[in-house]
Amino acid sequence: MRVTILILTGNARVVMGRLVMKFGGTSVANIDRIRNVARHVKREVDAGHDVAVVVSAMAGKTNELVEWCRDASPMHDAREYDAVVASGEQVTSGLLAIVLQGMGIQARSWQGWQLPIRTSDAHASARIVEIDGAEIVNRFKDRKEVAVIAGFQGINPHTNRITTLGRGGSDTSAVAIAAALRADRCDIYTDVDGVYTTDPRIVPRARKLSKVTYEEMLELASVGAKVLQTRSVGLAMKEKVRVRVLSSFEEGRDDANEENGGHRGTLIVGEEEIDDMERQLITGIAHDKNEAKITLTAVPDRPGAVASIFTPLADAGINVDMIVQNVAHSTGSTDVTFTVPKSELARALDTLGKAKESIGYVELFHDTRVSKISVVGVGMRSHAGVAAAMFKTLGERGINIQAITTSEIKVSVLIEEDYTELAVRVLHTAYGLDAEDTAAE
Ligand code: ASP
Ligand code: MG
Repeated sequence: MRVTILILTGNARVVMGRLVMKFGGTSVANIDRIRNVARHVKREVDAGHDVAVVVSAMAGKTNELVEWCRDASPMHDAREYDAVVASGEQVTSGLLAIVLQGMGIQARSWQGWQLPIRTSDAHASARIVEIDGAEIVNRFKDRKEVAVIAGFQGINPHTNRITTLGRGGSDTSAVAIAAALRADRCDIYTDVDGVYTTDPRIVPRARKLSKVTYEEMLELASVGAKVLQTRSVGLAMKEKVRVRVLSSFEEGRDDANEENGGHRGTLIVGEEEIDDMERQLITGIAHDKNEAKITLTAVPDRPGAVASIFTPLADAGINVDMIVQNVAHSTGSTDVTFTVPKSELARALDTLGKAKESIGYVELFHDTRVSKISVVGVGMRSHAGVAAAMFKTLGERGINIQAITTSEIKVSVLIEEDYTELAVRVLHTAYGLDAEDTAAE
């Protein structure tokens, strides 16, 4: 992404700091909540910061707009879909600017096309290519004007048509804008007060993390801890944007100077910002019930056999995650098990059915009652035994492991869905993540 900013020269005043504040759908769900958002913005403006705000549509609005498009025609034109669904953010950006102005704060709304936020031409799932932040920076300098930017949308510069970034895309808008404006931080306000060691609904003794690395967040986000759109975390890592996740429903202390450790929420930063004292072996445990397991039996054990399974799946655009191949020396054939997203299961089965001859398998099974449990932490790079501890803990509870994948900072296992909660709980305890005293939290 190319970044366009105006360089401040000569007698520029001392800039206190530059913040991007992003508010999700529940935070702008009605006018009262938009007033609440405006109070958060005012606090930062009063502290002397330059502020660009990025807003989502009101909670539920985008779903409604998507539904309307489907209703109008199931086979609708993606360009018109974008024209419709981008409107939710247009409404909230205008409303927040009105409320801020009413509080005596200089503010102006911006749609994606007005900056512009240039994107690729992939309507409904466009990627941001370039953001022109010059006018916003000018206005910070000239009149301390707050920019209220509609998230989720941009413009296809070749056709001058509105584009949208895919569901949950306003997180990505916010991070990209923070990169373009060289903001000191991108604060993502949502309805949870940070990133937890695991889902607090499963483990009441889950702890809020004060810091987590980009890489860990990427793994946690992609394995089902849905606080941020995964793409936004990848972008933050690439552009080195410091991100903070916090609740818009909490007042609390909110220091721009987080060095004193008093900051709210969870910071998502580079590994170098996390010192040894704070570092844990395991940072978090995620679970994901969105995968389905497929097994092909008696696949001929010869070179090219595995390729004959996964090539047609790849050609169909189906993402395969975990793969297990059992080598059977005696029979000359092997069973191959793998997982695909549940939403792609039907297409995967269809694709494999058609490729039966060329693959040469005997039977095709599938199972949707599975769950993937992942332990994540940069600490495991320098420690052996993390995977062994996981397998032992699950084994002691009689939880059978059906497939395994690992990365440098993650171990994932596939288990029977019914054991999800138990597995998360026992692993949380086994890795020492339980809060000491929930009552005191
Ligand atoms: N309103 C859009 C959606 O619901 C974008 C966002 O809120 O992130 O997907
Ligand atoms: Mg969201």
